[in-house]
Amino acid sequence: KPMENRITDIGPPYFWQFMPPIVQKNFGKWKSHQIIQPGVIKRVSETGDVIYVVRCGTPRLETTDYIREICEIADKYCGGYVRWTTRNNVEFVVDSEDKLKALLEDLKNRKHPNGSYKFPIGGTGAGVSNIVHTQGWIHCHTPAIDASGIVKSLMDELFEYFGSHKLPAKTKLALACCLNMCGAVHCSDIAIVGIHRKPPFVEDERLEAVCEIPLTIAACPLGAIRPATVEIDGKKKKTVRVNVERCMFCGNCYTMCPAMPLADGEGDCITIVVGGKVSNRISPPKFSRVVLSGIPNEPPRWPTTVKWVKHILEVYAKHARKYERVGDWIQRIGWEKFFELTDIPFTEKCIDDYRLAYVTYRTTTQFKF
Ligand code: SF4
Ligand code: SF4
Repeated sequence: KPMENRITDIGPPYFWQFMPPIVQKNFGKWKSHQIIQPGVIKRVSETGDVIYVVRCGTPRLETTDYIREICEIADKYCGGYVRWTTRNNVEFVVDSEDKLKALLEDLKNRKHPNGSYKFPIGGTGAGVSNIVHTQGWIHCHTPAIDASGIVKSLMDELFEYFGSHKLPAKTKLALACCLNMCGAVHCSDIAIVGIHRKPPFVEDERLEAVCEIPLTIAACPLGAIRPATVEIDGKKKKTVRVNVERCMFCGNCYTMCPAMPLADGEGDCITIVVGGKVSNRISPPKFSRVVLSGIPNEPPRWPTTVKWVKHILEVYAKHARKYERVGDWIQRIGWEKFFELTDIPFTEKCIDDYRLAYVTYRTTTQFKF
């Protein structure tokens, strides 16, 4: 039986208290769910209770005013309960058709001054999900690329697929701004990864003052860092040197030592990976594989990345069978055909190597290029 009001100082509070009473009452008793229109899911319980879940995309980086507005909607229609999904959607749960109609009408009328929806409804079924993504330039210290800026640029182009069911199957998009990969890029249908391509700079002058050198050396998973001493203005200073041949540009050392920054306007680039999924339907779960790399970081609208992701999505939409996820489709037609249909140039970046072994696709002896 769920514990009530559990208070701990390790980890999050117990989830039970955050569930609407009707969901608590029917816990383990739901017998069906049906997407009755894009963004609206009807769940029916064996007790006869019915709920409607309305899913809306959010920008992920949210102002307090925006969160207050979400809470106001939840107070008005949902007894004060609201839920965020891992893909940055917000979900409102109502318990009658009348409330559903009023909620949908209300959400549709909430707009930004430029006329765009504040709470676009969608993200269910055979469409694109809101894009799960990472911290980017706003919060993290190791990004090779931004996160929310690229996502915004991309979703502006793919918006029609968010609020509709035009695609063969659900299509999950993801973005991680470095290979440490806080986003779900390894298991999403189409994903964007930021890649560093140069080793860290070593700021000899300040390294000794701001870094624990043994910790910095220990932080490198490849043993590429060794201690060194340099002379600056006649004074000896302790510092480190990086074995560039060994470095895989992961940024772990920068996490430990701020005098080893990695971000670089020319070196940092974007890689697109495709075909990952968690689902077991049609074919087993798969890791995403690299199909395009070296795309330049192009703020503020990242046109090359947006163009390629949209193109891959549209080729998939045209050629896949109903219910086939991107990975299922590629498995049926073969990777060679995927490159042919998408006109993506096949490069050496797509071949397995040590640095990107977990995201390349040539892990099968059936591969014929
Ligand atoms: Fe930071 Fe990398 Fe995570 Fe982006 S993916 S938030 S850069 S650790
Ligand atoms: Fe080692 Fe990664 Fe730093 Fe390179 S970037 S030196 S591999 S910790």
